[in-house]
Amino acid sequence: MKESIRCFRIAPAAVNVCCRTYASHEIPDRLKDVPTSANPRFFDMVEYFFHRACQVIEDKLVEDVKSRVSTEEKKKKVAGILKLMQPCDHILEIQFPLKRDSGDYEMILGYRAQHSSHRTPTKGGIRFSTDVTRDEVKALSALMTFKCACVDVPFGGAKAGIKINPKEYSEHELEKITRRFALELAKKGFIGPGVDVPAPDMGTGEREMSWIADTYAKTIGYQDINAHACVTGKPINQGGIHGRVSATGRGVFHGLENFINEANYMSMIGTTPGWGGKTFIVQGFGNVGLHTCRYLVRAGATCIGVIEHDGAIHNPEGIDPKALEDYRIEKGTIVGFPGAQAYEGENMLYEKCDILVPAAVEQVIHKENAHKIQAKIIAEAANGPTTPAADKILIDRNILVIPDLYINAGGVTVSFFEWLKNLNHVSYGRLTFKYERDSNHHLLESVQESLERRFGRVGGRIPVTPSEAFQKRISGASEKDIVHSGLDYTMERSARAIMKTAMKFNLGLDLRTAAYANSIEKIFTTYADAGLAF
Ligand code: NAD
Repeated sequence: MKESIRCFRIAPAAVNVCCRTYASHEIPDRLKDVPTSANPRFFDMVEYFFHRACQVIEDKLVEDVKSRVSTEEKKKKVAGILKLMQPCDHILEIQFPLKRDSGDYEMILGYRAQHSSHRTPTKGGIRFSTDVTRDEVKALSALMTFKCACVDVPFGGAKAGIKINPKEYSEHELEKITRRFALELAKKGFIGPGVDVPAPDMGTGEREMSWIADTYAKTIGYQDINAHACVTGKPINQGGIHGRVSATGRGVFHGLENFINEANYMSMIGTTPGWGGKTFIVQGFGNVGLHTCRYLVRAGATCIGVIEHDGAIHNPEGIDPKALEDYRIEKGTIVGFPGAQAYEGENMLYEKCDILVPAAVEQVIHKENAHKIQAKIIAEAANGPTTPAADKILIDRNILVIPDLYINAGGVTVSFFEWLKNLNHVSYGRLTFKYERDSNHHLLESVQESLERRFGRVGGRIPVTPSEAFQKRISGASEKDIVHSGLDYTMERSARAIMKTAMKFNLGLDLRTAAYANSIEKIFTTYADAGLAF
């Protein structure tokens, strides 16, 4: 087995904050081409967005520094902490052999990147895809840092990728790959309930998370009572949580709703508030795409197109997500779905609709095609679907881009709830369920007795019946209720914060910069309050 670890972290004490005038934040020279590049590196994209937001927020950070030092000193300290946020803390590259069912041997390549340990554990998915590269995993881990901060999930960012096409391996082979990868992560301190906690991403799901939890709990974590908190997105019987599978799609729906109901934003892009009559197209009908479709259709929007890697379908009357899901499970493809027609045009991404939901891979909207997009809103369910050059074109064309670090954060939010459940060793609602139900019945009885004391019982008892809404809640909140409400609250609070920042800095439709600025401010405060750079 070959492997290597590289540590990129600059020790706080060694941050180079001297000999420079900090007039305003500058984009580093190596990133100067990123905003015009047709095909930038993914990590450069994330770094560029970070620096763009630093330009907006740096002066405020300087103003907010509490220590009694000169303004020049404050500027140096702010610049120092911002430098600290940029690089990836650790990247692990792993190669190990796999004996295939055929008896042939093959080397498997994988990575885990931990971008920032300003909060621990670090958190981020594991993807299985032939597109996995070191750059992609680094970029996705950095995005996770800003995503967690954006929605107040107290984790640092991480990501893993194994460079395989999962469709080309048997279940037995996938289990061997996943378990071996988990073991290698464990040996190097890249997994553990308090260290680094993976989750599902492209090509992985509950099954893989279950193998990882089991491998960790039976090896390095065998004495750790919290061992199953080493990974989230597990099946319920392995310590998973209700609502995790659909959480990212549900979060996309809530995220969209927060902006769609804002008359101000809708008038900026020339449309009306609310879901009624809105159409959408989704790219990628996997976990995130499917559940986004379900929730959007339930809200009253019409799915007029679905794009997959092997074909696209459309139906102006609406595509039924459940029927499409059933068809795909049976046939292994969306192609030929009887509830829609095959799409024959150039690319369905360019078709007219209200909302475009890229929910597959990165960099699908770029410099060469951004001018062809006809949607009014882009909900970045996938990570990194828009390049900086495209981002600018879209904003200039008055298209509202709801950025990935906010809109697809439902998954990590519910993963956080799952992790807390695992540490608590009890499911949400378990201790209060009966108490709440009894209390509510006592309340109704009490109202009934009061009424009867006042009006008497002539003609029989006065019936006091719960309303339909109260009846639904009378038994107290189930785990699913708590997860859904916690997710809804998280998405709403973060949306408000993004809007406030966008307004404060006069950013117009540039929600990405506003979201990054909020995250940077929170991470900055964590470093500054911990005294790491002071
Ligand atoms: P998935 O593997 O379940 O689904 C991805 C789907 O996209 C598959 O159906 C695949 O066939 C399709 N696809 C791949 N390449 C395509 C292409 N070029 N054009 C059209 N379709 C293509 O993965 P997922 O978990 O749904 O993740 C999708 C995206 O959402 C990724 O960018 C991922 O990082 C992001 N994301 C996922 C989660 C999560 O909880 N799973 C959370 C946040 C963000």
